[in-house]
Amino acid sequence: MVVQTMTKTDTRDVAATVAQIRDLEGRGCEMVRLAVKDLPAAAALKSIRAEVALPLVADIHFDPRVALASIAAGVNKIRLNPSNIRDPAAVRDVAAAAKAAGIPIRVGANLGSMDPNLEPSARAAALADEALHEAALLEEADFHDIVVSVKSSNVREMVEAVRIVASKTDYPLHLGVTEAGPLRQSLIKSSAGMGALLLDGIGDTIRYSISGSPLWEVDAAWTLLTQLDLRVRGARIVSCPTCGRCEVADMLGLVNELERRLGEIHKPVTVALMGCVVNGIGEGKVADVGIACGRNAGILFVRGKPVRNVAPAEFVDALISEANRL
Ligand code: SF4
Repeated sequence: MVVQTMTKTDTRDVAATVAQIRDLEGRGCEMVRLAVKDLPAAAALKSIRAEVALPLVADIHFDPRVALASIAAGVNKIRLNPSNIRDPAAVRDVAAAAKAAGIPIRVGANLGSMDPNLEPSARAAALADEALHEAALLEEADFHDIVVSVKSSNVREMVEAVRIVASKTDYPLHLGVTEAGPLRQSLIKSSAGMGALLLDGIGDTIRYSISGSPLWEVDAAWTLLTQLDLRVRGARIVSCPTCGRCEVADMLGLVNELERRLGEIHKPVTVALMGCVVNGIGEGKVADVGIACGRNAGILFVRGKPVRNVAPAEFVDALISEANRL
């Protein structure tokens, strides 16, 4: 499962694009797609390629010359629909160049490009058919190193369409809810859609689409993979929502501080902070390290064993110190 995002800079601005890719790499991004809208953008790819190690995906519409220039610039994948190129000879040229370079081509269908008069009940199947048609055009050009994506901003449609494609082909699948909106909405839509598929073992690359920083997209992807136990990166926090039994003041402030400080730990560790002993002891025992809060002190658990009592002012310090030690 590969964590992917897309740069939001103008690809022709080499310095800004390189800086953003480096930030993304530092955040755990494993593959980055760049919009390559013309030949100057394709030319910029060569300079970008020379300065970053992250695998690059060139996103191309319509112009086979841009695809060929991007491949020559050393990208690791291209995203292109052969039906947009129209000229079969040009499709064959692009396919041959990608094959010679040993890189895959991602094809796909987005709801935005579908007939708006389609009945909602028919749209998922139409999306799947469209994506598979794009793959077939490459197969006709004797190209088979294909990745398929089917995207919709409608979660249910996206999930149904991907399931259809997964039932009909063994090609790797790229997952994403497209145009998923601002942060909170995208997190819920994308996690619901991609989570349903990932839990069924479907999906090879994933991307959150957020109207906001691409760093958020990478963070979200890792959080999803970690919470689904597919690929664990960083700490997991088990914290209670609090209720009338909560024995600690400002539990929310403590959890926020815990989350901020655990962000610096990239090793898999589960840390629990629970507001009372009712459920706290059980959860504290299951986590790698946890505190169940009592009236004047919390019980610190490490790998299931109660270790010592901790004063409320030291809850976060104690959890961080034990998490680091583990
Ligand atoms: S752990 Fe205690 S304080 Fe937290 S929600 Fe459960 S019962 Fe309430």
